[in-house]
Amino acid sequence: QAKRQGKNTWRWFDERDTEAALEQVQLDSHLRQALTRAEFQVHYQPIVRLTDAGVVGYEALLRWTSPVLGPVPPAKFIPVAEAHGLIEPLGEWVLREALALARTWRQAGETARYISVNVSALQFAREGFVAGIRSLLAAQDVPGEVLMLELTESALISDIPGSADKLRALNALGVRVALDDFGTGYSSLSYLQQLPVQVLKVDRSFVNGVKMHGPMFVQAVVTLAHSLGLIVVAEGVEEPHQTETLLSLSCDLGQGFLFGRPAPFLDPGGDARESALPPAPAALAGGSD
Ligand code: C2E
Ligand code: MG
Ligand code: MG
Ligand code: MG
Repeated sequence: QAKRQGKNTWRWFDERDTEAALEQVQLDSHLRQALTRAEFQVHYQPIVRLTDAGVVGYEALLRWTSPVLGPVPPAKFIPVAEAHGLIEPLGEWVLREALALARTWRQAGETARYISVNVSALQFAREGFVAGIRSLLAAQDVPGEVLMLELTESALISDIPGSADKLRALNALGVRVALDDFGTGYSSLSYLQQLPVQVLKVDRSFVNGVKMHGPMFVQAVVTLAHSLGLIVVAEGVEEPHQTETLLSLSCDLGQGFLFGRPAPFLDPGGDARESALPPAPAALAGGSD
């Protein structure tokens, strides 16, 4: 048996490939049903000012618990949804949920915090994306200022002029845009000047790297961002010492397990976590100048 294993090592990989393919098929069919069976949930993770941990907004993070497969992480099912034409209905569902929550906040008099929603490149590329955002805002009767959209560099750089047009149209609605996972993608920074984004989210690998590799990367990003008038969010802040380093680098906002894990908001008006939070800030990153 050992001989067979040694000789036909390729078989092992082959079987793994088959397994992966089967898993994809499974995921695909389960995912299709999930949309109609209320198996999705949106969790919200606070984004805070580093100066005083005041919550300025929340990132909406999709969660799927399949009755058959159990909890499946977004890193696993988002690519499958993209490959099978399911990302648009899914993305629209997340936006609708997030804006419905924003509406309950406004009804409770909370007007400063925003919700940041991840948008897949495929979603963004679709014609009518901006019109869709406009009508979702109108349907919940909330202003665009409640919404931030998180896009990765790869979603924007394939067509910079076209992307810039879309971003301008979103900005005109009051919707702000964040570049997500900044530093992991494209190597040139020249596109930044051409794209009307308001926020850079520094990828967690660099935030964790502050201890290991020194603060140069984050420092460079902050300097660049501030020179362009952008706000910087550090992703994946887990330890107090990271906050201190980030503050010394003039980083504006932070997000990570240190400040709060992604969690569901309870029913409108009945959120237990909300009441434990500091008062709402006046504006995005307000008071951190
Ligand atoms: P992302 O947009 O960069 O989201 C941040 C991820 O980091 C989340 O993972 C979050 O749970 C995790 N995180 C936050 N703080 C910490 C920390 O202190 N330490 C560590 N180790 N992790 C932290 P999650 O929820 O598994 O989502 C993974 C990715 O899936 C997201 O990365 C985003 O790209 C994508 N995603 C999630 N929800 C959606 C969605 O509704 N639509 C789309 N298109 N993509 C989504
Ligand atoms: Mg994100
Ligand atoms: Mg991110
Ligand atoms: Mg990330």
